[in-house]
Amino acid sequence: MQLKVKTVLNAVQHFPGFVFQDVRLLNERDDPPRLEVTLVPHAGRLARCSHCRQPAPGYDQLPPRAWLFVPLWGLVTHFIYTARRVNCPAHGVIVEFIPWSTGKRPVTIAMMCFLSRWARRLSWRETAQVFGTSWECVYRSVEWFVDWGLAHRKLENVQAIGVDEIHWGRSKGADCFLTVIYQIDGHCRRLLWVGKRRTQATLRRGLAALGDDVVRGLRFVCSDMWRPYLNVIADKAGQALHVLDRFHITTHLNQAVDQVRRAESGRLRATASAQADRLKNLRWKLLRCGSRVRGKARQQLNALAASKLATARAWILKETFQPFWRYRSTTWAGYFLSVWTERTLRSRLEPMKKVARMLRSHEDLLMNWFKAKGEISSGAVEGLNNKIRVVTRRSYGFRTFEAMEMALYHTLGRLPEPDEFTHRF
Ligand SMILES: [Zn+2]
Repeated sequence: MQLKVKTVLNAVQHFPGFVFQDVRLLNERDDPPRLEVTLVPHAGRLARCSHCRQPAPGYDQLPPRAWLFVPLWGLVTHFIYTARRVNCPAHGVIVEFIPWSTGKRPVTIAMMCFLSRWARRLSWRETAQVFGTSWECVYRSVEWFVDWGLAHRKLENVQAIGVDEIHWGRSKGADCFLTVIYQIDGHCRRLLWVGKRRTQATLRRGLAALGDDVVRGLRFVCSDMWRPYLNVIADKAGQALHVLDRFHITTHLNQAVDQVRRAESGRLRATASAQADRLKNLRWKLLRCGSRVRGKARQQLNALAASKLATARAWILKETFQPFWRYRSTTWAGYFLSVWTERTLRSRLEPMKKVARMLRSHEDLLMNWFKAKGEISSGAVEGLNNKIRVVTRRSYGFRTFEAMEMALYHTLGRLPEPDEFTHRF
């Protein structure tokens, strides 16, 4: 017996009340071959109202429509169906319920899920190319998939969140920043919310989107020392322990070291000193955690440390801050902090002094790190930020903020997925 395509279709996509009538290979001269699958209603079954899904008497028929289906053997495949209208006692004359369709979209649910899942592994443009469809079609599919996921996700037991700003795009304008809210609990790390800009209003919108129950249930909030965020967090989630996390403070220290290095390198170049080039090559070594630098790079750093350069002093200050994170006792950590800031404020290195002043003015929040120790992961925010950069770097394909927003929820939101009629693709 020959295996029929209809048999395969019934095995993977069975719609009660509908049957696959016909499968045709269209091989017209100028177009690539494609498949058309015709569906008809099951004889003797009433159509259902698309609103309440109850069977209802037929009213009339609409013109035939086509829905894009998952490509079979690489061929572009369409479902063709002539939808009926029913006269529902509750909802009047209305189009029937069509299980593979979401209404207006000319793409089957199976295909939208199929494209969405591939769009996590390939760029949207590649996804469109490989499966013979358009960027727009991939975008709309992901949009539907993400909307479904956001509508069905559960925000229970969210205890720790991280709030951060991300730069994207080419300019430094306010619209080129995103505010992101992550869940950073041990049992679940995901993107909860993303919004344009990094103002108080942005974060207020984000927390409102999560809902009062979630915000009231928070135990820890991690963020940078960005003033608008500090204000909103104190106002909205006052019960949670607000922690300035290690990742951000290390970033500030690194930036300060780099500013010192650049300024000094410029001064040295002006006097045609050979050390200018040496400093230039040290950039990445200076920014890594000192204990992780080995071999030749280590020797270069040691030579630098022995020199009288400002960069060397800045780097040593950065490195001597690291033991701070290892304290168990808040008292001793506080003592360490005051010694370190005193020393740094006497260093005559303005960028380093700026960090020291910032740490001193946020000492309370900084000390919360020790109260939250063991309860929140310091690497979670950094890890999620890195993943976001991977997505936004693909942003050449995202023509709008909305498209990128979709892509971020799609890849980092851990959203639930529809599996009705789709689980086999
Ligand atoms: Zn109805």
